[in-house]
Amino acid sequence: MTEDDKIVKKSGKRRFGLRSVIFFWMTVFSLVIIAALWLSQTVFLDFVYKNTMQKRMLDATDTLVMSDTENFRRNAALLAERNQFSVSVYCVYENDGMLVPVKSGDSIELVGAVTRNITRQERDKLILFLLKEAKSEGGKVFYEYRFPEEADNSRLLYASVYSDANTDYLLLLDCSFQPVESVVMLFTVQLVLVTLLTLALSMVLSFFLSRRIASPLQNIERAARGLPKGEYGGVEKTDRYREISELSETLTDAAEELRRTDRYQKELIANVSHDLRTPLTTVIGYGEVMRDIESERTPENVQVIIDEARRLSDIVSDLLVLSRYQSGESEDEREFFDLDEEIKDTVERYRRMKAAQGFTFTYESDGEAEVYCDRVKMMQVFSNLVNNAVNYSGDAREISVFCRREGNTVRVSVKDRGIGIPEDELPRIWDRYYKVDKTHSRARIGSGIGLSIVKKILDEYNAPYGAESRVGEGSTFWFVLPLASDDGVS
Ligand code: ADP
Repeated sequence: MTEDDKIVKKSGKRRFGLRSVIFFWMTVFSLVIIAALWLSQTVFLDFVYKNTMQKRMLDATDTLVMSDTENFRRNAALLAERNQFSVSVYCVYENDGMLVPVKSGDSIELVGAVTRNITRQERDKLILFLLKEAKSEGGKVFYEYRFPEEADNSRLLYASVYSDANTDYLLLLDCSFQPVESVVMLFTVQLVLVTLLTLALSMVLSFFLSRRIASPLQNIERAARGLPKGEYGGVEKTDRYREISELSETLTDAAEELRRTDRYQKELIANVSHDLRTPLTTVIGYGEVMRDIESERTPENVQVIIDEARRLSDIVSDLLVLSRYQSGESEDEREFFDLDEEIKDTVERYRRMKAAQGFTFTYESDGEAEVYCDRVKMMQVFSNLVNNAVNYSGDAREISVFCRREGNTVRVSVKDRGIGIPEDELPRIWDRYYKVDKTHSRARIGSGIGLSIVKKILDEYNAPYGAESRVGEGSTFWFVLPLASDDGVS
């Protein structure tokens, strides 16, 4: 089964490959061109020829009428040669009450001209007839003359009348009605050649064109098909066409993102199971000891069990929050509230909670900072940053929080003097499940979800945020929110 067949089978609808479509349209295109050429050379050739000759006859007549006697013969010879038509001048006068046409010496009659191939009586009859016709048509007339014995030999005549005293002059131009046989032959040969050349060229062109366009697309398609199977190799780089190279870059980026997410997800399972197991082991261990040894049933040991159970609960609730945000289930309940007040309360809570462990919290602010957003989500952002500052503050245990006004915005920063983050890891910490230290060697290590929750919420608000950090010196995490304006729009 070919790749193409597989696609057809999958989609259930018959679709043609790019190669066949390009080939088909190129062939249609060349056939249309060839048909147009054939039509113009066969059906329309006579028509085009006749029109061209008529136009030339009109122009030649104008030139000849303007010529003086001296130049007339020269011009007539020139025009006759160039256009392959005969030029004759007749003067028609009355003799014994009868009209008599007489040919002038200026006439140039080529082989085939009507007047050379008919008797004098027939010629005079024709000239008088044309004179009458031209006069009734305003002085000029085109006429198709057919030789009585030769059905397919006809001539195009153009007669124009000029009068002088009581003599009429008739200028007669005469050419073949059809293009000369040899010219038609030549056209036909050329046409056959052009047809063959066009067909061959269109085939070669469509073959190469479809190969050039289709093969990178097939690579991309193959790479995309590998993604669900966990093949994240991306696509071979191609810079042939902008659109295709952009598509392959996008797919490579997507593959890279998928690869990372896949890896993070595996890490998460490892992390979460590790993180869940550590407190669980402690809880079980302490529980068993307290069950078996009465002297161990102390409030301190109970507190350890409570702390570990709380940690478990924190991890689980982080996971729940993230999955809620990711599934888009969480509603955005915006309200006006004083961010300064909320932060002050939260910092105070942390101060009380963590004082026993030697943490010091400082808070500096520019006073009231009214914002319009989801209070719960914003405080979740802030708590996650403070939690991280606590978790990664090392021995320094000093955490400073700032809430500063900057024009129409308020900037919240959480600063610790802890372990810091290496510069090359900084951009990645916002990724889901990303943890700088993957060895789980530290006791108080999170699940790698906190900052991705922060990112998700702040992105939703288009709020700027970031982190600056130096290894061993500490980190500052910050975000900026617009202050609520009077009309209620933040
Ligand atoms: P975790 O639950 O592991 O803390 P986060 O998403 O909150 O997950 O943070 C991702 C990673 O970023 C952490 O594992 C940690 O390595 C690093 N990190 C976050 N905050 C800090 C900080 N204040 N100081 C040092 N490292 C930090």
